[in-house]
This record gives sequence, structure tokens and C-alpha cells, in this order.
Amino acid sequence: MGLRLAFISLWGCSLLLAVNTASADASRQVPPELQKSALYSMEDSVHGIRIRSMPGVSAEAIEIAKARLAMLLEHLPQVAANLADAGAELRIMTGYPNTDVTGGLVSYATEENILKNERDRFTDHRDICVHECAHMLHTAFGPEQCAAITQRFAEAQAAGLWPGCYAMTNESEFFAELTMWYFGTRGDYGRLPEPQEGPAWLKQYDPQSYELLDSIYSGRLLSRRIEWKRLADRGAAAEGSLKSLDSGQPSQIQYVNNTGGTVSYYWLDFEGKRVPYGTVEAGERGSMSTFISHPWLLTDSAGTVLGIWVPETTHDRIVVE
Ligand SMILES: [Zn+2]
Repeated sequence: MGLRLAFISLWGCSLLLAVNTASADASRQVPPELQKSALYSMEDSVHGIRIRSMPGVSAEAIEIAKARLAMLLEHLPQVAANLADAGAELRIMTGYPNTDVTGGLVSYATEENILKNERDRFTDHRDICVHECAHMLHTAFGPEQCAAITQRFAEAQAAGLWPGCYAMTNESEFFAELTMWYFGTRGDYGRLPEPQEGPAWLKQYDPQSYELLDSIYSGRLLSRRIEWKRLADRGAAAEGSLKSLDSGQPSQIQYVNNTGGTVSYYWLDFEGKRVPYGTVEAGERGSMSTFISHPWLLTDSAGTVLGIWVPETTHDRIVVE
């Protein structure tokens, strides 16, 4: 989930960005102190995707989380392989039921929500684990699936469907929210009269979006193996000559911070000016959704430029060393 207002202001200007762990929940992050890999010491996996949890997370919660991720991936072996290649992780917290969780290449869930216990901040116990896992899958979709989601989001928005719903935040939230209905529960329903849970209601209310989700999750809409290309560093001297050109072609970037320190990153806007977007902790990995031609400049904590990367294909990779 994420905060809407701040994000919408970004959406208008250029990009759908994901900070650190999110594929779209840009304005709200899992707090940095809860992003440290060392906190998640228990390991398991689903189709090669790591399931890691804080000590104390119950075996029951882990099994449920694994089953949810496996459910989303049941007909999508290529997507599962893309995620495994990219180092995707689902991390389960315990003891932080009120924290913000986000989804992307690294996705988070809380035990309290998974078990629907009385400490879950969502009193209706909506399935946040499925929502964040949907963001994870979205990072590893091919161009066909991404384009279909982009198109359907625009159509649904133009048609005035989903008024006031979190699904209208952007295309990533649209996909994640509707995924909750598709797999049997429901998301935020804004100003809609209280809808039913589950796919039957979705099919009746918004048949075209249902059809899209069904084509994706059944595997009918082609999913293909991704070759993650490693992006070339343009070097600090290139700042001043680089700027974003347009927002025509989405690009997913997967990144790893191997520097040993915190890295700050900036988007170079349409005039080439730095726009700060956040930080990535040492040792962390994640993904972001941006556009081909949009330059990203990274600095260390002292402000020294580490490099500038410009996405060139739909799926790129940055290793910051
Ligand atoms: Zn979300």
C-alpha cells in the first residue's frame, strides 16, 4: 500500500518510480531500520524466490505466505524464473503491525495481517500479502503484460470506474488492488457501494479488467524469460549533458547496492535537473519502474557522484559498487 497524494504529484510529471522495495508505492517506504537484510534470518523459498522472515514469525504465517505467492505464480513459470534470477524476496515481519509495507522485487508483509489477528491494522484483514506480491510479479512481467496493464488502467480511469479507490492511484496499484479481488478477497473500494469479495463481483463490475487479470494469471497472455542487461555507467562528467527525453516506453530497473554505505539517488528531469528520490541502504536490492531515456544519478552519503545510468531496454540492471 502507499500514500496517494504525494505520489500523484509525481505521476503527473514523469515517472512511476519505486523506491527501494516498491514498484509503485513511491511515497511510502518500509522504514530503513526494517529494511536491513540481517533482520530476516529465517529462510525458505517458493519457485526459487526467497521467503525470509524475522525470528519469531510462526511456521503457520510462513506457510500461508508461501501459499499465496505460489497461488499467484501457479501458471507463470517464466515470471517465477525472472523473479528468481533477479533475486526477488518476500520478507515477513512480526511485531510491527502498524508499519507501512511495500511491494516490488523485495516485498514485505506482516505476520499480523497474514494471520488476520487482532493486531492487524487492517480491521477488515484485506490481503496485503497478495497485494505486495502482485507488485513483485509486476516487476518481472514482459512488455506484453506491462502494456496491457497500462492500457487497461487508462481505459478504466477514463471510464470513471473505481471512483476514489486506491486502484486509481496508478497502474501498479490498479493491478495490485484488482489482484486482491481476483484471488478471492477485495481491495479498497473508495466511493463504490460496498462490493463483494472475490472474482465473481470483479467480473460483473469491470469485466474487461477481470479478463485482463485472468489472461495474465492463467498464463494466456504471453510471459517470457527476461534477460536482465547490466546498465553502463555514463560517469559523473555526463551530468549537464543528460536529461529525460520522454515517458513513452516503460523500463524496469533492478538494482543492488554493493557499496557498503547508503546510496542516494536522483532522477534527472526533462531539463536535466536533479530530483531527489530517496536512498538505498547498504546491501539492499530492489526495483523501480521508470522510462527508457530517464537518467538516474547516484551518490554516496558524502554526495560524491557514483555514476549515472540511463535505461535503454525494458529490463535493465544496475549494480552499484
Ligand atoms: Zn501497492
